[in-house]
Amino acid sequence: MNQGEPGQDDDPAGDPAERKMRFLFALRSRGVTDARVLTAMERVDRGLFVKGVFAARAYEDMPLPIACGQTISQPSVVGLMTQALNISPRDTVLEVGTGSGYQAAILSELARRVYTVDRYRRLTHEAAELFRQMKLNNITTITADGSHGLPDQAPFDRILVTAAAEDPPGPLLAQLKPGGIMVLPVGQSDAVQSLIKVTRTERGFDYEELRPVRFVPLVEGLGSE
Ligand code: SAH
Repeated sequence: MNQGEPGQDDDPAGDPAERKMRFLFALRSRGVTDARVLTAMERVDRGLFVKGVFAARAYEDMPLPIACGQTISQPSVVGLMTQALNISPRDTVLEVGTGSGYQAAILSELARRVYTVDRYRRLTHEAAELFRQMKLNNITTITADGSHGLPDQAPFDRILVTAAAEDPPGPLLAQLKPGGIMVLPVGQSDAVQSLIKVTRTERGFDYEELRPVRFVPLVEGLGSE
């Protein structure tokens, strides 16, 4: 018999339906209200992207460590960034910073095609293998320094950067279509950063500050693993 208080269940294997309900409730209470984003986040199991001792915490609203000293972002931040991108089903999206692949999997539910790049080969290989198992066939995973974007696949309708730069990288601004939206954290890597939304207009770029965030830094060149 379970003697615990309702809602105090620490069993990681707990009832999946209840776990999912709590996960979605946490997202809504932190401002993720877009129905399409919530549906995508309901469909993609975060537990598949978190390994080892941290797997038990996959359904909590917190960032967690992944390989190569990187982190899988907090689910509510993933939701808010995805919501800010306002993706339509015909869009081609570039994500810089594949990490675990979780964010890319959510983008793949909403967009026509997703390109995701990371500077660590180990991370892109593991993520690509997960996408294959999950039959997310519209994601292309590439090992590259994403601060240069992907000139061969550009321009993009939407760009999401999940690592912090001091300023929006020029090549990424250049690879955004007119009417396109880019969401990225900007600021020093050891301080609180600002999540910003950049919209490309006919005349230039509009900038909107969304909220304070903390991301790992955008680093130049390829990683060692
Ligand atoms: N979106 C990820 C979390 C990303 S953590 C997820 O859903 O799990 C940030 C990632 O950005 C790290 O994996 C890091 O290796 C990557 N990164 C940092 N600088 C980069 C660069 N210049 N090009 C590509 N990836 C980079």
